[in-house]
Amino acid sequence: MDEHLTQEISGARADVLARLGASAKNAGRDPASIALVAVSKTQPEEKIDAMLATGQRVFGENRVQEAEGRWEKRRALFPDLELRLIGPLQSNKAKEAIALFDVIETLDREKLAGALADACTKAGRTPRLYVQVNTGEEEQKAGIPPLEADAFIAKMRGEYGFAIEGLMCIPPAEEPAGPHFALLAKIAARNGVAKLSMGMSADYELAALFGATSVRVGSALFGVRQPQPL
Ligand SMILES: *Cc1c(COP(=O)(O)O)cnc(C)c1O
Repeated sequence: MDEHLTQEISGARADVLARLGASAKNAGRDPASIALVAVSKTQPEEKIDAMLATGQRVFGENRVQEAEGRWEKRRALFPDLELRLIGPLQSNKAKEAIALFDVIETLDREKLAGALADACTKAGRTPRLYVQVNTGEEEQKAGIPPLEADAFIAKMRGEYGFAIEGLMCIPPAEEPAGPHFALLAKIAARNGVAKLSMGMSADYELAALFGATSVRVGSALFGVRQPQPL
C-alpha cells in the first residue's frame, strides 16, 4: 500500500473525527453517538483500501451497480463492514440493493416500499431503513415532501411493517443548512424516529449541533471526487 496515501487518508479521517467530536461536545452530546459514514462513490480503489486500513468500516454509496463492483469482494474480507445506500433507488434494483446494503437511507415512495417489501420477503432479510425527506421541496431532488412525511412514515410502519430507523435529508446547496437540519429533527421527534442522517463535507459540524446521528462525508475524507459517468 502507498505509504503517502495511507498517511493522507488517515490524517483526513482523524481531522474529520476531531472536528465532529468537538462539535458534538459543544452540543453536549457524546461523540460516540454520531457515526461517520465515509462516502466512497467514484473514489479510486487505493483510497478505499487506505480508508479501510484506518479502521473505518461504515461506507456510503449512491449507486447500486457501482457499489457492487467496489464492495462485493471486500465484504468477505471485512465482516464488520457496514454499507449504506445514500442515493436514489429504482424499484427494479430493490433485490440487488437488499443483497448488498445493510442500510438503505433513501426510501421515499410507495412503489419503492412495495418493491423492497417483496424483495425482503424473498431474501429473508430486511435492511435498516431511513426515509428521505426533501426538506427544501426541490423538484429535481428525491425525498418525500415535509408535509407528507408523517403520513408516509405511518404507512411504512403500518402497511409495510417497516421499522423506520431514521430520516435522511440533503439540504438545497444554495441555502443555509441549519433550518433544514432543524426541520428534519422536528419531523423525526414527532414521529418517534430515532436516527438522523444529515451533514456532508461542508456542514457535518453544523449537523452535529442539530442532532445528526450519522454524517455522510466524502470529499473531506477522500479528496475531490472523480467525475461520475452518467
Ligand atoms: C456524495 C454524497 C455525499 C458526500 O458529499 P461530500 O460533499 O463529498 O461530503 C453525501 N450525501 C450524499 C447523498 C451524497 O450523494
